Amino acid sequence: MAKALLVIDIQNDFLPPNGSLAVASGDEIVEPVIKLMNDPKQEWHRIVLTRDWHPPDHISFAKSHGKPEFSKIEYHSPIPGDSSVQEGVLWPVHCVQGTPGSQLAAPLIEEQKKLGCRVVDKGYLHDREYYSAFNDIWDYHRTELNNYLKSHHITDVYVVGLALDYCVKNTAISASKLGYKTYIIKDYTRAINTDSESERKLEAELKKYNVKLI
Ligand SMILES: [Zn+2]
Repeated sequence: MAKALLVIDIQNDFLPPNGSLAVASGDEIVEPVIKLMNDPKQEWHRIVLTRDWHPPDHISFAKSHGKPEFSKIEYHSPIPGDSSVQEGVLWPVHCVQGTPGSQLAAPLIEEQKKLGCRVVDKGYLHDREYYSAFNDIWDYHRTELNNYLKSHHITDVYVVGLALDYCVKNTAISASKLGYKTYIIKDYTRAINTDSESERKLEAELKKYNVKLI
């Protein structure tokens, strides 16, 4: 067994008080996540930090469509010949490549340098939304994450970070589909939607894909 810790999108734009798409209380998990990264009992074989890493005209920005933030959109597959459609949410501009908002939280950058953790970016193709750090929502474009984990013989994946109900959830589901034993450590995450109906749906979805919420 070899364990990897995936730290999802703990970037300035997702953090209160100044992030453009701040997840409520997201700042509360930064120090605990750093402790978890350094916990000798965990015996992490590899730690990966991910970044949402968008071009300025990204398709997931409300501004790119002239529509209100947080309104719904129907995404059409960018692949010619594929007529599939998915419902998405249009976000405020966030995590534009190279801006201060796109940087990892400052204490995490220190930790990443100290421990030599790999950084994996997603969301950089402008014509498609990404939630999972493994692939776009259509599962056409794959990041290097799976190859990286496979090359280090990772068997078990633990996912923490932001936001629980989007990128953490979808990264965990991808990991499970790819054959990793997959866990989300809930105390080290925060969600965008925290009502009980959303929580119930999330738990059911994770169960369906054999992701353990611990
Ligand atoms: Zn994004």
